[in-house]
Amino acid sequence: MANHLYDALFAPNETNDAPFLRLKNGDILSFSSFLKITAQFANLLGDSGLVAGDRLVVQVHKSPQALAIYAACVRAGIIFLPLNTAYTPAEVDYFVSDSGASMLLCDGSSVDVLSPVAARNKIEIRTLNGDGSGTFAQAAAGKSDRFVTIDRDGDDLAALLYTSGTTGRSKGAMLSHDNLLSNARTLTGCWQFSNRDVLLHALPIFHTHGLFVAVNVCLLSGASMVFLPGFNTDDVVKFIPASTVMMGVPTFYTRLLDDQRFSGELTKKMRLFISGSAPLLAETHSAFEQRTGHYILERYGMTETNMNTSNPYDGERRAGTVGPPLPGVDVRIVDAQTATAIPLGEVGIIEVHGPNVFKGYWHMPEKTTEEFRDDGFFITGDLGRIDADGYVHIVGRQKDLIISGGFNVYPKELELILDDVDGVAESAVIGVPHGDFGEAVVGIIVKTPDSRVDEADLLNAIDTSIARFKRPKKLVFVDQLPRNTMGKVQKNLLREQFADCLQ
Ligand code: AMP
Repeated sequence: MANHLYDALFAPNETNDAPFLRLKNGDILSFSSFLKITAQFANLLGDSGLVAGDRLVVQVHKSPQALAIYAACVRAGIIFLPLNTAYTPAEVDYFVSDSGASMLLCDGSSVDVLSPVAARNKIEIRTLNGDGSGTFAQAAAGKSDRFVTIDRDGDDLAALLYTSGTTGRSKGAMLSHDNLLSNARTLTGCWQFSNRDVLLHALPIFHTHGLFVAVNVCLLSGASMVFLPGFNTDDVVKFIPASTVMMGVPTFYTRLLDDQRFSGELTKKMRLFISGSAPLLAETHSAFEQRTGHYILERYGMTETNMNTSNPYDGERRAGTVGPPLPGVDVRIVDAQTATAIPLGEVGIIEVHGPNVFKGYWHMPEKTTEEFRDDGFFITGDLGRIDADGYVHIVGRQKDLIISGGFNVYPKELELILDDVDGVAESAVIGVPHGDFGEAVVGIIVKTPDSRVDEADLLNAIDTSIARFKRPKKLVFVDQLPRNTMGKVQKNLLREQFADCLQ
């Protein structure tokens, strides 16, 4: 056998001395040097007792070494489980115990708060800092830079990416070697990546967008990346003239448009700007075209499915749409209530099928069965329609998800915490339009009679339980929540009523 993903993405680059990562400080790491680090890391993981199929939880800052952990896991057959750096110890504890991880890798600054988590789960904890130092890197430095790659086939799992659950419980999406490889091949072809490309990489690498879409496409095509620690307008403006492609969330593009230095002249060597993870406003698309002459290419995907649709590279990039299905991916729209086919052009639930679609939720067979049709289509929970030219339009999210600055916030998770506070009768959490973040979180609260609870009490309860990016930008107190005849809270009415509450 062989290693399905490693052999295609990484192995061909073992002897490639061309630049792979171009860092902010001017340092350059070649593909071959990067792969030597991954071999040392894979050796250390093996020597620490991890074997193929084990899970490694990684909550570290973005760095070349953090990326090398992903590659080390692939070559050692270990299942990579990256986490948002904003998750609290309580959240990390859930991911560690639910996944049954064998090791926790964290930033040195969180080792004190995460050591009890590791102890409770009886696993080893090691550190990897944003500058590449830490106990993991130190121990790996003494290891061999050659590693005998572990056999894995296309159906073996490469990664477990947790998506927040609408019921408050996060689910681990099982992504196989072939889910990742098939999508990387498709995207590399559709977006015409080659080894002449330099991708400006300012996305986080704990999410499918910055990790799999961006990195796998570069590995497959031999392209290099300007690998920035995060998004910062000054850095992006500085490095754009040295890049050919950028991938971003819509917030990146609105922020760039807010800066007068961002111009057609600055972007003249760029061949492609790609947007995804949240809706790109048609206004942003046209403002971008007017300023730079570039039409942003919008695509649509999700953690569970990798990428599903993309506007064309050659051909019309239609604002407000996510383009036609990618080659090899079937997309259909069904009636939200009856799950039956509906006429072309009507709005329904988007369902997808293809080699990109994940293997199910970790240890949740019932949930997996619920979210797949008998014929293998995955029910995305997104509402959309397909126009006469085959372009998919996303019109909403049945699952009630809020996407703020590219990060997902599930209202239910916050509502559970708010409802738990003394003096709160009930709550509804909604997303409202926000110029910078796309959507911002707003909590609508109904107090119990005579309650003296105030905004500070509620924000305090939230701050101690969940990541900061989920914190509401505003809390509004109302007498009652609007409900339909079935007793369901009508969030659409709340969204309309409070659409301007942050202006
Ligand atoms: P995630 O699993 O974090 O990647 O979030 C996936 C969700 O993001 C999808 O189910 C969509 O609701 C949303 N999404 C991703 N790309 C787009 C897009 N281009 N336009 C609108 N929504 C998007």
